[in-house]
Amino acid sequence: MTASTLRLNRLPVVFCLKLLTLFVAGVGCQAVAEEMTAHGSHVHGEAELTFVLDGNEAELALVTAAGNILGFEHSATTPEEQQLQKTQLEMLQSGRWFTAEAAANCTIAGQDVRIEQDDHGHADLYANIQLLCQAPLKLQNLQFGLFELAPGLTTIKAQYLVDGVAGAQALSATTSALKLRN
Ligand SMILES: [Zn+2]
Repeated sequence: MTASTLRLNRLPVVFCLKLLTLFVAGVGCQAVAEEMTAHGSHVHGEAELTFVLDGNEAELALVTAAGNILGFEHSATTPEEQQLQKTQLEMLQSGRWFTAEAAANCTIAGQDVRIEQDDHGHADLYANIQLLCQAPLKLQNLQFGLFELAPGLTTIKAQYLVDGVAGAQALSATTSALKLRN
């Protein structure tokens, strides 16, 4: 992790911690993780990811330029584009794009994947996955196979909040494991 990565990510993490402190009883991981990624910038080649683990519940929230996943950002028009879009959205919904340690015994409890077009020919893709983990203390890493499944993606800027401890890491095809605990 570089110093600049830390500096870039400090503000949203602090914001999230405040949210957690204020609303810990009323707002689950899902709302916090989505809030943390809601202000992501549209950068081709990059994705922003937030992982929040609180007790047994976890949420991954990914936002990325749609072109990184689909190869295009306009509305899918040809049969080939429509098929590719369907395949890639199903891949995101399935959770196949990341791996949690088997020992943590996590299962997908819910998902929400959507594309939002803007007015300038660009589109963002949002993928939110909720997990339920039977042994959350054994969750040390999250491995991201997304780089192999999304040819346009080179960097994931990841932030995490694990039982109240925050951190950040930049991931790439060669460094694709997010370390969640020291
Ligand atoms: Zn774009």
